Amino acid sequence: MKIAILSQDASLYSTRRLKEVGEARGHDMRVINYLRCYMNITSHKPKVVYQGKVLEELDAIIPRIGASKTFYGTAVVRQFEVMGVFAANESQAISRSRDKLRCLQILSREGVGLPVTGFANSTKDIDGLIEIVGGAPLVIKLLEGTQGIGVVFAETHQAAKSVIEAFRGLDANILVQEFIKEAGGMDIRCFVIDNKVVASMKRQGAPGEFRSNLHRGGKAEQMKLTPEERSTAVRAAKAMGLRVAGVDLLRSNHGPVVMEVNSSPGLEGIENATGVDVAGKIIEFLQKNAASGKTRDRIQY
Ligand code: ADP
Ligand code: MG
Repeated sequence: MKIAILSQDASLYSTRRLKEVGEARGHDMRVINYLRCYMNITSHKPKVVYQGKVLEELDAIIPRIGASKTFYGTAVVRQFEVMGVFAANESQAISRSRDKLRCLQILSREGVGLPVTGFANSTKDIDGLIEIVGGAPLVIKLLEGTQGIGVVFAETHQAAKSVIEAFRGLDANILVQEFIKEAGGMDIRCFVIDNKVVASMKRQGAPGEFRSNLHRGGKAEQMKLTPEERSTAVRAAKAMGLRVAGVDLLRSNHGPVVMEVNSSPGLEGIENATGVDVAGKIIEFLQKNAASGKTRDRIQY
């Protein structure tokens, strides 16, 4: 098969691994910097041009769209979809997952376990907003943050109020969430491919840090999921319409809750922690599904 990895940087671990593993299986693998692609949007003959040449006869693409490049990245993915190229994740699903609020709303519709979360536009109702999530301590998040940046812990009502006011003053969109204390700075990353959890790990935040992100000094270790956690992760990926997803869970007193669903989950942490050939499983998934050449997102918003 001819497979393109849409990535800004061919030297990134995930990009490299996908390329190597695909080549080892006899595929023609190509890394394409989607920011350098341009598109010809014409009836009947939509095209993507890269390095002066029309990209032709691709069987599948693996989008690895950077968080800050969602708009252009998903436009390129959409163009390939219009051309009938199979995408490991579709543009709609990627857009959906990038906005934490939209993601939680979709998951709530499906009855997936979630931390109690509030959202408001006006700074007038701050007390009411804090009340929704059961008061302080609580967590405040920027809607489009990643790698733990933009996630703030507020221990008291007063602290919560000032942080919310400050973010609102900057016109930033935020959500307010109950603090899952019992998680103890640990979260669980479930790597889901085609409605199956193929690998899972726990991530423990550095001492004194409630955020478990590896970028914030968290440590990862392989972990076995409970059947409930496994089915929660699969339902979350499915609800978002993601065929390849990193679903992050917290263990709460009221069962597993989903914090977020990532559409370009990193491979380095999970492969190193679990020893699972996750890149190989992504390629296998494409081998099984790309032939149909059909895009199939039916989730709407
Ligand atoms: P990001 O997209 O920046 O990774 P997350 O929503 O995943 O943001 O939050 C970062 C980390 O903060 C999580 O991995 C988790 O360890 C911790 N965290 C987030 N929300 C909560 C919460 N409601 N209760 C307890 N810990 C949380
Ligand atoms: Mg996260």
